[in-house]
Amino acid sequence: MKRTSIAIMSSILLFASCKDTTPEKKPEPKMTKNPLLTEWNTPHGVPPFDKIKSSDYLPAFKIALKENQDEITAISESTETPTFQNTIEALEFSGKYLSRLQRIFYAVNGANTDDTLKAAAKEITPAMAAHGDFVNLNAKLYDRVKAVYDQKDKLNLSPEEARLLEETHKRFVRAGISLQGKAQDRLREINKRLAKLSGDFSENLLDETNAFEYHTKDKKELGNLPASLTSLAVEEAKNRKHKDGYSFTLQRPSINPFLQSSPSREARKKLFDGYAMRANNDNDNDNKAILSEMATLRLEKAKLLGYESHAAYILSDNMAETPEAVYGFMDKLWPSALAMAKSEREALAKKMKSEGVSGTFAGSDWRHYVEKVRKERYNFDEEETRPYFEVNAVRDGVFALAKELFGLTFKERSDIPKWHKDQQVFEVLEADGKHLGIIYMDFFARPSKRGGAWMNALRSQMNVDGMVTPIVTNNFNYPAPSGDSPSLLSFTEAETLFHEFGHALHGLFSNVKYESLSGTNVPRDFVEFPSQVMENWMSEPQVLRMFAKHYKTGEVIPDVMIKKMKDANSFNGGFATVEYMAAAYLDMAWHSKTEDIPTDVNAFEAAAMKKLGLIDEIIPRYRSTYFGHIFSNPVGYSSGYYSYLWSEVLDADAFQAFKDTGNLFDPATAKRYRKMLSMGGSQLGMDLYKGFRGSEPEIEPLLKKKGFK
Ligand SMILES: [Zn+2]
Repeated sequence: MKRTSIAIMSSILLFASCKDTTPEKKPEPKMTKNPLLTEWNTPHGVPPFDKIKSSDYLPAFKIALKENQDEITAISESTETPTFQNTIEALEFSGKYLSRLQRIFYAVNGANTDDTLKAAAKEITPAMAAHGDFVNLNAKLYDRVKAVYDQKDKLNLSPEEARLLEETHKRFVRAGISLQGKAQDRLREINKRLAKLSGDFSENLLDETNAFEYHTKDKKELGNLPASLTSLAVEEAKNRKHKDGYSFTLQRPSINPFLQSSPSREARKKLFDGYAMRANNDNDNDNKAILSEMATLRLEKAKLLGYESHAAYILSDNMAETPEAVYGFMDKLWPSALAMAKSEREALAKKMKSEGVSGTFAGSDWRHYVEKVRKERYNFDEEETRPYFEVNAVRDGVFALAKELFGLTFKERSDIPKWHKDQQVFEVLEADGKHLGIIYMDFFARPSKRGGAWMNALRSQMNVDGMVTPIVTNNFNYPAPSGDSPSLLSFTEAETLFHEFGHALHGLFSNVKYESLSGTNVPRDFVEFPSQVMENWMSEPQVLRMFAKHYKTGEVIPDVMIKKMKDANSFNGGFATVEYMAAAYLDMAWHSKTEDIPTDVNAFEAAAMKKLGLIDEIIPRYRSTYFGHIFSNPVGYSSGYYSYLWSEVLDADAFQAFKDTGNLFDPATAKRYRKMLSMGGSQLGMDLYKGFRGSEPEIEPLLKKKGFK
């Protein structure tokens, strides 16, 4: 997953960023002591995180917002005849400080928040939503944009300029510029309220996740939990003021291995229920009323804009185009996935029974018995593989892959300030040694970081008065090293590193003129394609042998283990697809409703899952009250969670292009692939894809990959 902040970015009209190191001629804003409002005399213009304090953000936002309002007013009040330069480009280049500030604020607030940042977010998010409306619902400004748009065929624009004009015009239309009077006032109210509610949703979720703890003194309950994770649980217990024992939390690196290893049904159930009931406990952190109101407001907004549902509104700007197309494509995969999950359930329940355990097989038993069946059927133990996936080795693996495919090298930079001491910073260099960009990697879980893994662009590439190079981040929630144990990843966690790095490459390869069309600023159902495609390489034996080395002995992962791991990983594929798709259907259920959004969240969710025929032992990967992808942002991934699967069609088909050459690193294919990524959003997604592949993607490679065919 990725970038909540960019979703906010694209809903407002603030782009342009700091230049590399060249000082601006423009006068500085007054309060120059605030490091967020000065030019940055740092290596490659990176943010001076060592000088920025949490308390600097809010005052800086207030000043930068005002500055941008003045710029917008100057453009809209201009008496010159509207031209592409004085209107479209002027807009694109405005908001230099605000845009920079916003990128950094949302990155830090996501990865290393504190009470000051949380409080600032509560003011900033609604203020930015209101500012988005100030720009996009500005009638005078739109008149000028429209005047340029109406003569677009006569302007002799380059393809990228034409795309910028198209996107700028569309942004006003989609924001509701054609609404008049009361309707427009209502739209502004809705936007403001959605910003507030989404902020509350995330805060409740973070608080609820951090508040939960399962503490035990009984070491037997841990089963065969690896030593590194056991010592993490000891540390957690100490942090939570216990004299002794082990504490487990709802963060994935803590809960998932426990669910796998613990032989105690009761303990597993407590953690499983704790996870599944987050923000659904009728306490102060409950998200039910919040999300129901959000869905209601989104529907009202869509109707104001002339669409019959929120999904119809969102999808009209994506590759899929309509809710029917999304359902049509998901319905093709669902029956095979569900059938596969049911046969997995049968095997797991049988295994439980064979152990003489009484009672009905339940969701909280699933992960535990998956590991057992894997061990039995494939003689595979995930814990045996962890030593081959030490986090830095996996990082070197993805770097080695980038070198094989694109000739890139990575130089660690100790002179670059960070937002947390655990971050690692690398300069990315082309094959000829030319600077391409900077990447920050922040690997470990901590209470100040939200869950999941994501990429941010702290600065997007652009090339107006010279090249501005990209600065990107990758963020994860891996178990932190503890005592003598380094951070050892599961195969899936290692895969996530390749995934996020794919997003980073999308940002790094960008080679366009305008910032708003650069890097990952592409339709949401294209965005997960460059990330997911990397996972294909990761599981190839040829690539695994490049980096999967035992952290103690340096021994390369044995072929027989790779074979076992691949076979074992194909088991439980039904569960993974069903768990994900149930969440994608749930997202669509909330957002394709055309009237009467329900207030009984649990009943609605249960009915939607029943309609699908979802089995009781699997819950959606995200239930409504903790579905941050779709509710922790005014727009976020709402009606877009299907994108991962949609992108999987693209990634399987794209990887097939490499396979077809007989060389996983085929230079010509890699060159075409990089070319496609470098175009960012300067062309339509399908056109870009066809440019790479020569035709539209086929679904066959995905069906084969998932074992559905
Ligand atoms: Zn992603």
